[in-house]
Amino acid sequence: MSNRQTLTLLKTLGIGTLNAGVWPESTAAPTKNSDHLDSFNPANGDLIGRVSLCPDDAYDTLITNSLFAFQTWRNVPAPRRGELVRLIAERLRAHKDALGSLISLEMGKIKSEGDGEIQEMIDIADFAVGQSRMLYGKTMHSERPQHRMYEQWHPLGVIGVITAFNFPMAVWAWNAFIAAIAGNTIVWKPSPKTPLCAIAIQKICEDVMTEHGYSGIFSLFVTDSNTLAERCVSDPRLPLISFTGSTPVGRHVAGIVARRLGKSLLELGGNNAVIVDESADLNLAVPAIVFGAVGTAGQRCTTTRRLLVHASRHEELITQLIHAYKQVRIGDPLDPNTLMGPLCDHAAVENYRHALQEAVAAGGTILYGGHVLPGPGYFVEPTLVHAENHWPVVQHETFAPILYVMPYQDLDEAIALNNSVPQGLSSALFTTRLQYAEQFLSATGSDCGIANVNIGTSGAEVGGAFGGEKDTGGGREAGSDVWQAYMRRQTNTINWGSKPMLAQGIQFDL
Ligand code: NAD
Repeated sequence: MSNRQTLTLLKTLGIGTLNAGVWPESTAAPTKNSDHLDSFNPANGDLIGRVSLCPDDAYDTLITNSLFAFQTWRNVPAPRRGELVRLIAERLRAHKDALGSLISLEMGKIKSEGDGEIQEMIDIADFAVGQSRMLYGKTMHSERPQHRMYEQWHPLGVIGVITAFNFPMAVWAWNAFIAAIAGNTIVWKPSPKTPLCAIAIQKICEDVMTEHGYSGIFSLFVTDSNTLAERCVSDPRLPLISFTGSTPVGRHVAGIVARRLGKSLLELGGNNAVIVDESADLNLAVPAIVFGAVGTAGQRCTTTRRLLVHASRHEELITQLIHAYKQVRIGDPLDPNTLMGPLCDHAAVENYRHALQEAVAAGGTILYGGHVLPGPGYFVEPTLVHAENHWPVVQHETFAPILYVMPYQDLDEAIALNNSVPQGLSSALFTTRLQYAEQFLSATGSDCGIANVNIGTSGAEVGGAFGGEKDTGGGREAGSDVWQAYMRRQTNTINWGSKPMLAQGIQFDL
């Protein structure tokens, strides 16, 4: 994208070249280097924009304003809150193309995946609209006569949302739209690698809300300082911190929140396996494995990182995969012919290089790829490596398109290998045997939060609760009954009779 096209795109989304990194309170334009953050295009290293950082004192004002907005917002009827989220979704629909392009430009995923990310936001907004009329509490029968007992759900307050670079818009929406219909206000700290994506979304949401008389329901602060991020994490005014990111950072954040007895919702790293059994239909398996391992240049939490293949199908599958890998067109993510864009930055390329060195040193064989491509931009080859599950490099999530291939002898062994990693996010089995499918999905099967049959590990739908176990953090977002994570449950008992009465038949007569 030329400089002129970039400027037009940013202008379409209402973003100037210098943007205040704190909303709805704006700050003055930065005057010195330490006041701003530069955003680069990972496909060519060009500077896209410059964002002013949130000053420490502006953070406090932001939280105070968010608390103030909460006083009003929690009293707005939930279906009306849903209606406002519906209007935001309309605005997202109108800007889908530009927003999808901005994701490709700043994060590097291909344009159809960028557009898909906006579609996911629209889907979760639609889901939230329906949910706003279904914040159900139960009515229970009291053991005491002339008593009524029920539970109801109230909003928590100001919700802190910290997001990763790889889904720079949708992950926020999963949290923010459900939290908003539940009556909370939301403060967002996005990844410093994708500040413009966050600014574009914040601007759209704030515009829609102010047009309808509400301000400060959604707010944002951009920082590259972990000190300020941790101030937010340790802030007792934020009852819930929803954190999406790597396991080491998530573990640290969870510890800080737990110490102040706050709530955390954790969506952390994955190490996802696909099992291909002796009966599998490779017409289904091959495209799913390639998209799972190569899509988003291997930078999804649900990326397929391990391939467990029955020994009898090993050669056939590897031949087909190598053939498919050769068709993967690497390049500018905004070019509609491209299937794989760049990694996000130089550090990600170094992680790719080091992981492959470690795998080879452990005895691994590179079956395909393995090279860093010449610049500009952070491009690497999608890579297949023969490996063993217990090697430290295989146990660890490397955020790059590396797929470790491992043959197995029977399904019990494959399930044991699937489960023998610290993470527990997504998993998949390709089979035509009903018994195998049921075994994989049973309590003794996959230990992951997501277990699919004849569908890859990547590409979850809004509506099914998303998240994983073990080192993935245990959080669930974007579906099912997840709205409860953003609310507090209150049990109410009313005595409508005229006699004082204690539970469990306790007598306490005065
Ligand atoms: P990261 O852990 O480096 O950063 C995530 C966020 O945490 C960023 O906003 C970052 O600025 C912030 N952060 C860093 N240090 C912090 C601190 N001390 N206190 C508070 N915040 C801090 O992750 P990343 O590289 O941006 O994203 C990739 C990781 O995210 C991968 O591990 C991936 O699997 C994971 N991820 C998980 C899911 C999921 O739903 N499970 C979704 C997307 C990404």
